[in-house]
Amino acid sequence: MVLDFKCPQCGGGMEYDSELGKLQCRSCGFEQAVEDAPEIEEDDSVSVEPFDGGSIPDEAEFSNETEEKETSLYGEEQEFFCNSCGAAIVTEPEVSATHCPYCGSAVAFGERLQGKLAPDKVIPFTVSKEEAKAGFRKWAKNGLLTPKDFMTEKRLGEITGIYVPFWLYDMHVNAEADCSCTKKRSFRRGDYIIHETKHYHVYRRANLNYKKVPADASVKLDDTMMDLLEPYDYRRLRKFEPGYLAGFQAEKYGVDADGLLMRIKNRVSEYAQSYIKSTIKGYSTTTYNSQNIMEEKQQEYYTLLPVWLLKYEYKGESKIYAMNGQTGKVVGKPPISGARVAKWISILYGGSFAVLTLLSYFMV
Ligand SMILES: [Zn+2]
Ligand SMILES: [Zn+2]
Repeated sequence: MVLDFKCPQCGGGMEYDSELGKLQCRSCGFEQAVEDAPEIEEDDSVSVEPFDGGSIPDEAEFSNETEEKETSLYGEEQEFFCNSCGAAIVTEPEVSATHCPYCGSAVAFGERLQGKLAPDKVIPFTVSKEEAKAGFRKWAKNGLLTPKDFMTEKRLGEITGIYVPFWLYDMHVNAEADCSCTKKRSFRRGDYIIHETKHYHVYRRANLNYKKVPADASVKLDDTMMDLLEPYDYRRLRKFEPGYLAGFQAEKYGVDADGLLMRIKNRVSEYAQSYIKSTIKGYSTTTYNSQNIMEEKQQEYYTLLPVWLLKYEYKGESKIYAMNGQTGKVVGKPPISGARVAKWISILYGGSFAVLTLLSYFMV
């Protein structure tokens, strides 16, 4: 099922506008609330029925059925037809929203946004394409030191706004530590210097709650890069509506919530350990006799987060630069052209000391 976002007034294509926070028609300017845009109609053939133990005759039949449903949900490379121009749209299996390559209409694929694949939450784009272009330009210092073809208007025009799939977890952590600590001091009494060591038994227990700890569930984008894009402001989370996707790319998750849980448990365990550590203060030495950390998942939310991507082929390597589509934060350093740096330095200074300092600055 292909969702399109047609203007109720003129039939033109509508796209989500980050400034208005609404859909806007590209032809006549008509505005529409995201909630009023087309909804995904649940299709029985792929929806997942709630588990009902009583109605399953035997195990073999049940597992068979499950497998069949899994296949149809995740879908192989599939052909969709554009509602506006009728052209066949072939996409990679993880893409859930894109533009029709023939007529440019915004489309979303219902099958990849429903059932288990239905997002719970979304943070809409607040950085518009124009703002993103300006942000990349500033980040690359207007292209003064980057290779000549890096900051061209054409390349900037090709930046892609993509909703990247994340899992957000509410976690509860029960942390317990048992330590032996000492306080040491030395003082003079008469002709003697006294070294005094007092021993303490220190016990800590904490119940900690961590809300909305994120893990990126995209198969395509690099985890480290996505981690560096944080933080997002989760106060601006909205209930998911397909209309937010109009005009952007979107990807469905490639790893399910359980698949990333270990990563999140390790992360909150570290938070809890450093919290406990911060409460044991004022001792000369601390020795942990035992430490117990129990992490428990309370809830998870399948969430789409906004990212602007800039792709660049450099010396035969394809590179991706990413910007947080809510805050404008860019990850990484732009490619630096050695020739251009040298040119600027010779104009500005000409001295070898300046060359070294500047080079070390840019090559970090
Ligand atoms: Zn219109
Ligand atoms: Zn089309």
